[in-house]
Amino acid sequence: MVRTAPDAVVVGAGPNGLAAAITIARAGRSVVVYEAAPTPGGGARSAELTLPGFSHDPCSAIHPTALASPFFRSLDLGRHGLEWIHSPAPLAHPLDGRAAVLERSVAETAAALGSDARAWRRTFGPLVRAADGLVPELMGPVVHVPRHPVALARFGLPGLRSARGFGRGAFDGDEARALFAGMAAHSMLALDQKLTAAFGLVFGLFAHAFGWPMARGGSQRIVDALVATLRDHGGEIVTDHRVTSIADLPVARAVLFDVTPRQLLVIAGDRLSSAYRRRLAGYRYGPGVFKLDWALSGPVPWSSDGPARAATVHLGGSIDEIAASEAEVAAGRHPDRPFVLFVQQTPFDPSRAPAGRHTAWGYCHVPNGSTLDMTDRIERQVERFAPGFRDLILARSVRGPADLEAYDENYVGGDINGGIQDWRQLVFRPSPSLDPYRAGAGIYLCSASTPPGGGVHGMGGHHAARSALRHELR
Ligand SMILES: Cc1cc2nc3c(=O)[nH]c(=O)nc-3n(C[C@H](O)[C@H](O)[C@H](O)COP(=O)(O)OP(=O)(O)OC[C@H]3O[C@@H](n4cnc5c(N)ncnc54)[C@H](O)[C@@H]3O)c2cc1C
Repeated sequence: MVRTAPDAVVVGAGPNGLAAAITIARAGRSVVVYEAAPTPGGGARSAELTLPGFSHDPCSAIHPTALASPFFRSLDLGRHGLEWIHSPAPLAHPLDGRAAVLERSVAETAAALGSDARAWRRTFGPLVRAADGLVPELMGPVVHVPRHPVALARFGLPGLRSARGFGRGAFDGDEARALFAGMAAHSMLALDQKLTAAFGLVFGLFAHAFGWPMARGGSQRIVDALVATLRDHGGEIVTDHRVTSIADLPVARAVLFDVTPRQLLVIAGDRLSSAYRRRLAGYRYGPGVFKLDWALSGPVPWSSDGPARAATVHLGGSIDEIAASEAEVAAGRHPDRPFVLFVQQTPFDPSRAPAGRHTAWGYCHVPNGSTLDMTDRIERQVERFAPGFRDLILARSVRGPADLEAYDENYVGGDINGGIQDWRQLVFRPSPSLDPYRAGAGIYLCSASTPPGGGVHGMGGHHAARSALRHELR
């Protein structure tokens, strides 16, 4: 039980809720976090989903946004045991019979891309050189006064284009186009939509500038380190405590919600203005995901060189195939050959499974709320690039959108980004405002439904807490 009224309350102990609480506690204010689940972490936890001794990442597995996050970089998470593991290459993308590989170095990546070497260097070289100034600009509200307008323009102008238009225009070869399209498909949007090129540019920039690492021992370690940091600063966490109404919370000067707009309306709707309520009611959710985790008897038998060196492997073939898969999802249908985001943890972190055994993680995009079992279609895509994969499966965990939402209610209809990230909802997230975190006096939204959106980075929570510190917590 919390003994005295805290300065601030945070609802939800996902990466953003914890970031909000740490920011407030570091400023010397008292804070209590209420979390519905038995353990903190939201989308960054670990669990034995398949067999004893196999530790899986139920949600996030690979963390470029954590390394890029100015907030995470301001913490000494290593002191609390967090260790990042980088596979030799951040990303591989098999095409039939061969594979494109994104190396940490722009020059090395370019050197293997043949006629696209110069175009890859020209696309990513200037962004990586400007990373120190550019990345903080990208990890906050889109509407702001830029501190690095030149770097932002260099990123923003091509980023406004569709991923397919940019990918086909900038690169000639299948390898570079496919690499770019796979990264852009993290947007969970049709790749013909405006601004989807920005996702390809951001994920490429992060790969070259920071890497796409995993946490040794599993994603839970990130949260364990955040929780330890919060406790160092006197913050408290109450788990197994689902908040259904703001009226049930201790009186506090500020309440920050690591939930999505739909939940905020239910929990605190009567404290919000009618105009803001209307805007939240119009907030849109995006496609869901269908997720598999596997316990394997051996390493994934890739048919080309390259994927064995990368923790993340994009399985979907050419730019046109990936675009077709994402267009199907955007149209509310299920692709026959889905674009699969695949991660192999154990070649780089053997602690996740018994000796000689392996774990793998994969998901594809599906229409929001889909109930179709995509297991066979996902495994066919893996088999296509790694024949014999199915023979290695000892056990699998299968979770569709409803299971993900039951696990963490922020994943509405299986949407893992807290709302669709099309241009309108990227710019106005969750609604048009210069301070998109402030929902009303003393009430803040701090989840992935605020800028900069989905991913484990804590920046939504950090920005929301800073707003509360400027207003009610001065
Ligand atoms: C399958 C999958 C794969 C992913 N892969 C990656 C990846 O590889 N890399 C990456 O960076 N990101 C990945 N993500 C996305 C990432 O997990 C999320 O974007 C991130 O966790 C968002 O953080 P958050 O704090 O906003 O919300 P969440 O992490 O969702 O946390 C919200 C928390 O609030 C709690 N909560 C909600 N409502 C209430 C309530 N009423 N009362 C109390 N508590 C409540 C929830 O239980 C939860 O703990 C993935 C997500 C999924 C599902």
